[in-house]
Amino acid sequence: MTTKKEQLTTSWGAPVGDNQNSMTAGSRGPTLLQDVHLLEKLAHFNRERVPERVVHAKGAGAHGYFEVTKDVTNYTKAKFLSDVGKRTPLFVRFSTVAGENGSADSVRDPRGFAVKFYTEDGNYDLVGNNTPVFFIRDAIKFPDFIHTQKRHPATHLKNPNAVWDFWSLSPESLHQVTILMSDRGIPATYRHMHGFGSHTFKWVNAEGEGVWIKYHFKTEQGVKNLSSDVAAKIAGENPDYHTEDLFNAIEKGDFPSWKVYVQIMPLEHADTYRFDPFDVTKVWSQKDYPLQEVGRMVLNRNPENYFAEVEQATFSPGTLVPGIDVSPDKMLQGRLFAYHDAHRYRVGANHQALPINRARNEVNNYQRDGQMRFDNNGGGAVYYEPNSVGGPKESHENKQASYAVSGVADSVPYDEHDHYTQAGDLYRLLSEEERKRLVQNVVNSMKPVESEEIKLRQIQHFIKADPDYGKRVANGLGLALEQNV
Ligand code: NDP
Repeated sequence: MTTKKEQLTTSWGAPVGDNQNSMTAGSRGPTLLQDVHLLEKLAHFNRERVPERVVHAKGAGAHGYFEVTKDVTNYTKAKFLSDVGKRTPLFVRFSTVAGENGSADSVRDPRGFAVKFYTEDGNYDLVGNNTPVFFIRDAIKFPDFIHTQKRHPATHLKNPNAVWDFWSLSPESLHQVTILMSDRGIPATYRHMHGFGSHTFKWVNAEGEGVWIKYHFKTEQGVKNLSSDVAAKIAGENPDYHTEDLFNAIEKGDFPSWKVYVQIMPLEHADTYRFDPFDVTKVWSQKDYPLQEVGRMVLNRNPENYFAEVEQATFSPGTLVPGIDVSPDKMLQGRLFAYHDAHRYRVGANHQALPINRARNEVNNYQRDGQMRFDNNGGGAVYYEPNSVGGPKESHENKQASYAVSGVADSVPYDEHDHYTQAGDLYRLLSEEERKRLVQNVVNSMKPVESEEIKLRQIQHFIKADPDYGKRVANGLGLALEQNV
């Protein structure tokens, strides 16, 4: 007699009689179609993969908590930020961006830094990166940009021509390209990097007053990076290096943590600041808007099952809670649509009901049905609104804060084109050794580009950021510059 737990069952719960030998006509076969356990086993196996994320496919995740360490109730009514000492459970997914699900962790690439706070007012997702800026500032360019980071349609190889063609024709990328090519372009581990919300968001307090904010997660492990050589070696020897490091650190009780800060800008400053503060290719100088402490994030529990928790985790910058709104940032506005749309395709219409994504408070609405609806689907409760039978109701105090907009509806570029000052500021804050490595990384990346025109166009951008930066890249590529720099 086998006990219940030991009994192998089919997916419909019936005891399996033989899981090693398929049913055949005689000992040599052929195999019989009536072996329904075999059919089910093979068919389910064929369906084990959900579509890979088109970006951020390779990742690792962990559970933890956020603790408020400073009172920010002057600025936001978000309930999970309401009291010093308050803890909110969360789940984090770190990732690379361009590579496929099996690609190496230690590549030069931004890292995704996505946090899902399970707050009492619903989930709040902060879907950031380990860099404070991004390559582009209008979502309409995103599919094209990502195409350049992926494989050539004919050769199926990575394509440096496309990468640098696009960047050189999209000079707003220069700041992020400089960060990417600097030492911080390859973090030593997921634990040794900062995280940023990158976009500008709005915090709104109980009085309905708003401020613009930017999030900074500063690693308490210290920033550590890998040199290009060491990273390349690790990529060959252990492509899952960062995944393994995060899991092992948590497993042995060495819990990684981040101090969380915000920069706070009064709403009216947005009109007069020296550049558009919603432009995600730029940082707000910390001299203008210093970091203000909010809390601390600790990761202290590994997932029990990678697919259920990490692969099925679905984040969206549109997953907001009262007290936190969006800004007009055109990149953010596009992401508000794209993320959950990706998850509806990848995981299904009811992805938010899966255990890893489900809000910890009660979810009460009139959405019904859809593929894989696995709860009671609202049972017999009222399924439309308005209704006179006591269905769940909105609460106007939880509306997004109103604000004035104006302008002519048109497809227009940003009205500001200084892509150079902040990239140059970064170059100038680096030590001489850091600059040398930055230039070498740029040169190594640009060398395979076949077109001299692309290289020269890009060098002009480096020159505008800092003449020394451009000159060194040109020298490294063995290209003579026409103008005196
Ligand atoms: P600050 O001197 O006030 O801040 C410099 C920032 O750069 C700090 O956040 C610092 O924090 C970070 N930093 C230091 N060394 C490096 C490095 N080697 N690579 C990347 N970042 C580094 O100046 P500003 O705020 O005026 O910014 C100047 C430049 O610093 C910007 O153009 C931007 O490129 C870069 N930067 C700015 C950030 C911001 O939010 N203002 C954030 C990150 C970078 P830490 O050492 O803890 O990372």
